[in-house]
Amino acid sequence: MKTMIDVSEALGIVFGHVRPLTTVEVPLADALHRTLAAPVCCDVDYPPFDRAVMDGYAVRASDTEDAPVRLRVVGHIAAGDATATAMNAGEAIQINTGAPMPRGADAVVRVEHTEVVGDGSCVLVRQGVEAGRFVTRRAAYVSAGNVVLVTGTRLTPVEIGTAAVAGAARVTVFRRPRVAVLCTGDELVEIDQRPAGAKIRNSNRYLLEALVFSAHAEPIVLGVAGDDRTLLRAKIEEGLRADLLCITGGISMGTHDLVPEVLEACGATLRFRKMAIKPGRPTIFANGPAGVPIFALPGNPGSAFVVFELLVRPAIAVLDGRPGVEATAIRATLGGRLRATSDRRTFVPARACVTKDGEWEVSPVEWGGSGDAFGLAGVNALVVQAPNQPDVADGRAVSMLLLDRV
Ligand code: AMP
Ligand code: MG
Repeated sequence: MKTMIDVSEALGIVFGHVRPLTTVEVPLADALHRTLAAPVCCDVDYPPFDRAVMDGYAVRASDTEDAPVRLRVVGHIAAGDATATAMNAGEAIQINTGAPMPRGADAVVRVEHTEVVGDGSCVLVRQGVEAGRFVTRRAAYVSAGNVVLVTGTRLTPVEIGTAAVAGAARVTVFRRPRVAVLCTGDELVEIDQRPAGAKIRNSNRYLLEALVFSAHAEPIVLGVAGDDRTLLRAKIEEGLRADLLCITGGISMGTHDLVPEVLEACGATLRFRKMAIKPGRPTIFANGPAGVPIFALPGNPGSAFVVFELLVRPAIAVLDGRPGVEATAIRATLGGRLRATSDRRTFVPARACVTKDGEWEVSPVEWGGSGDAFGLAGVNALVVQAPNQPDVADGRAVSMLLLDRV
């Protein structure tokens, strides 16, 4: 096992030891944010008929060449009307958006370019149209049997709409990952209690549960294990029945930091124990006996948050059938200052916004360090600083990771 590794190397190890989950068929309405495990095909030509895309008159384009021209109105077709209607030269049919084109017509003159003549039996077409104008031909978008969404597609609202058009009432997706959350520490009390003496509130349980939700996975809250081997082992074993186990606290060098030895006692294989990053140096990644990925994050809320974003969120994506990729850093102008870095890659909680010029600007928040949960409010980015760098002045270009805040 490596000792101190950079975050890219750590992610590489994580991606090498996390596999996509099994797949399941679900109603389309339940598939938002899931990933397709089978392609979606359209079961019909689309559009299923030659379709008017404007309100106006279906005409033969050749009849309008010498516009203005008067045509005889021989009918009206609304959306949903049968497609059998036909018309001849010198005729027009009033038509609505979404209605099937009559046989014999090859274009639509928009209503704004027409004038009803007399009792409405004739229409004056003021402007000519070319053949095909304002008509979408049958199968112009897809033919029956075409794949419209490939395996691996993440279903956002747009793809849900696409699948609906294709008639995919049920879709095959990767199962929603179940992520167990376990907190350790004898100092923790519930959040509805006022911490007395040396106690503090168990805020990580809520932080992590919300982070898991935000990754569109299902949190399973295991509660607090305290700093007790027996209880910790029982909780870890329970957590290994989930698809991923996320532990906070108990992994540093203190006498009560029991997580590493209990993980090993549970038959887990530790892959790394330290990353050359700040915050988040003591981070464990392991696999349970059946391969379940385990992350043991530092207990400090700031560290737990940063490491979740750097490692756990991408691991959840892999469980969910998406490719394992490291987030791409974005260039931004620094609004504020950055202090010189140590020998570790440093991630500075920050607030990014788009300026009037349409460029990213990122400002580090006032933050007391990894134990300060208050300074994190409003953070939507992490400024990334390479190791051993000098101070950075206001207005300089920096790299940042934009965080997924939905
Ligand atoms: P540890 O990683 O267990 O050494 O904890 C590091 C720091 O994080 C200590 O000050 C802990 O009290 C604090 N801490 C640990 N677990 C939690 C938690 N669940 N919620 C809030 N703070 C925590
Ligand atoms: Mg602890």
